[in-house]
This record gives sequence, C-alpha cells and structure tokens, in this order.
Amino acid sequence: MLRAVYPGSFDPVTLGHMDIIRRSVKIVDELIVGVLNNNAKMPLFSVEERVKMLNDVTREFSNIKIVPFEGLLIDFARQMNASFVVRGLRAITDFEYELQMSQTNHKLEPDVETMFFTTSIEYSYLSSTTVREVAAFGGDISQFVPEAVAIQLNRKMNEEKERVMNEQPN
Ligand code: ADP
Repeated sequence: MLRAVYPGSFDPVTLGHMDIIRRSVKIVDELIVGVLNNNAKMPLFSVEERVKMLNDVTREFSNIKIVPFEGLLIDFARQMNASFVVRGLRAITDFEYELQMSQTNHKLEPDVETMFFTTSIEYSYLSSTTVREVAAFGGDISQFVPEAVAIQLNRKMNEEKERVMNEQPN
C-alpha cells in the first residue's frame, strides 16, 4: 500500500495545489493531505475552515483524506503510516528550501522519501499568498482557486473589512 502525505498550509487551497493533488492521487494508493495548524503563521482561515474547504473540493477523489496536523512533518508521516511526502516545486526559489527540508526529513526518518511534482506551467506563478493579496484588494480570484473557495475567500474578506470598520473610532 503506497500511502503519501501532502503537507501544506492551504490558506486557501489553490488550483496549483489541486493540480498536485489530481496528479498524485493517480500514483499513490492513498493521499493524506496534511493541513498545517500553525497559529504563529497567522493564517487567514482557521485550520477547521481549511480542512472543510479541502474536503469540499476533493470530493471527486476516493483515495484521499484531509487531516490537520501540527509539529514535525516526519512524526505526522509516521503516524499516518506514510512512506512518501509529496511536495510541489514551482520556481527555483522553492528549490533551495525544499531540498533542505527533504534532506533534513531524510536524516530524521530514512524510510520516508520526498516525491516532487514540478508545477504545471499554467500554475507556476500561483501561491496562496498572492491569492489572498488579490482578494484583499477586491480582485477577481476565480481563475486561481476552485469556485467554492472563491466564495469563502470573498466572504472572509468582507468579514475582515467589516471587522476593521467596526474597530475604527467614530
Ligand atoms: P503556499 O506556498 O502557496 O503558501 P503551501 O504551503 O500550502 O502553499 O504549499 C504546499 C505545497 O504545495 C508546497 O510543496 C508548495 O510548493 C506546493 N504548491 C503551492 N502552490 C503550488 C503551485 N502553484 N504549483 C505547484 N505546487 C504548488
């Protein structure tokens, strides 16, 4: 049984993440999408919201599970009985960090390998950070994220705007 963990913040899940998911579920028997619960990163969406959105947009795949995690990735992979970690590589800027991570993880647990998918060209520029920025300024994000995520992201931005307005002194 080939089980892999695909870890990330997914704040929110983008079409770039979806492309990696779609390609890896074809290769592995089971894909566990690990949603990082790291409040130090001050995520826009809570871990529960991110898990829910991922569940909503991956319904078409039968061999996938969305699981929140915190702490060391390699401990999570062991807990899940996964022998692979899936990561996506966009540009050369991702490479250095990803190389360090995979080598460190390999030292910590030699039985867990990292499998890299190079990004599909149409998503190579895409990151959750830029999607959040475009959304914050009211830009059209429909070409970057699944429809259900665009709805949640726009709702979240409106809530944030209202919160800021209510905080302002009269
Ligand atoms: P981000 O880096 O956008 O905040 P995550 O931390 O959630 O996203 O990333 C999880 C994994 O998905 C990482 O391996 C990252 O390189 C990969 N990934 C993110 N966006 C893309 C994309 N557009 N194409 C390919 N891989 C991607």
